Amino acid sequence: MSSEIEHFFGAKAAKALHSRPKAEYIDRSDLEAFADCPHQGQLRKQHEGEFETHEPLPEIGKLIHAVAETAIKTCNMDLQEAADYITEELPKTRPDLQPETLRAGRTLANRLRWSKVTHVLLCEEQITRSIMPATNKKGELLVTTAPDLVLATSSPDKLQVIDCKTGWKERSNQEARDEVQTCVICWCLKAKYEHIRYIDFRYWNTRKNTTGYAYIDLEQIVGGTKDDPLMQEMAFEQRIFEAARLYMEGCDEAWPTEAKCSLCPVLSWCKYADEVCKELDGDPKAYVDNTLVLSEVLKRREKAISDATKNGRTLFGSGGFYNDTPKKKSPRRVSFKEQKDEETKQ
Ligand code: SF4
Repeated sequence: MSSEIEHFFGAKAAKALHSRPKAEYIDRSDLEAFADCPHQGQLRKQHEGEFETHEPLPEIGKLIHAVAETAIKTCNMDLQEAADYITEELPKTRPDLQPETLRAGRTLANRLRWSKVTHVLLCEEQITRSIMPATNKKGELLVTTAPDLVLATSSPDKLQVIDCKTGWKERSNQEARDEVQTCVICWCLKAKYEHIRYIDFRYWNTRKNTTGYAYIDLEQIVGGTKDDPLMQEMAFEQRIFEAARLYMEGCDEAWPTEAKCSLCPVLSWCKYADEVCKELDGDPKAYVDNTLVLSEVLKRREKAISDATKNGRTLFGSGGFYNDTPKKKSPRRVSFKEQKDEETKQ
């Protein structure tokens, strides 16, 4: 390329092109790590490549994704044929495939078979959108992502996005809406297809055969003031820009919670992790044994308290109390036949 430029425009132009700062791409997963917990993003950067290789599930996920991508592209984006292709080809890919992988592949194939949408716009294709324009010192900053499937619908201003997940995390509808990757994919799609307004977003949790669903209206007002309303697309943009800022400036803050830390890929290297998750990760066997002992102790304590309060005594703690007040029973439903029998007896 630079030799062609040199040929047509001269050495000076080629040199200027060479010395121009290169564009920088932030991957969706890096951005997501910083948005979830900046310390996770930092640790992922430091241990790049180390944590992914030990995880069996990402391997399974990659394999299913690869077969699905080949299937859809080989079958000229025809989802019905692609479903048959996955069913036939997945068992042949590796002799050690676990039943769980085959089950996940079969689920994916069935879902594709039942899908009413047939026109595939994108399959695992990289889409990007600029976060920051290039300056003299820095190249352009772009966010990049590759959604599994983007489908056209009968409405010209609406798209359907399908992202298959083979991991342990099972996304609910609320989580599907709140995910950083949902906002990155929607935001990037808006740049590629300017006319769209609605996105029907589905996470297919292939391990459990469930769906996390979010219906996104990019022009919906989600905040701001009456004079300066905040649209959904703008809210996505602000979230992405903030995560990108943390990524660029190298923030090392940690925001541990049980839900985040228990599924965090860098948990074993993190000094700020939630204490319960740290213990669980350090020695899971001891953790389970301790839990069993504790639950047995709790049962015995409750029995002792129940005996001690049988004579009407109330035991007070600083935040609550125990006494022997019988719990109210909800009235039993009487069937029509039982009622008739009762009446006959009387
Ligand atoms: S373990 Fe928790 S605190 Fe540590 S990086 Fe992961 S999410 Fe953040």
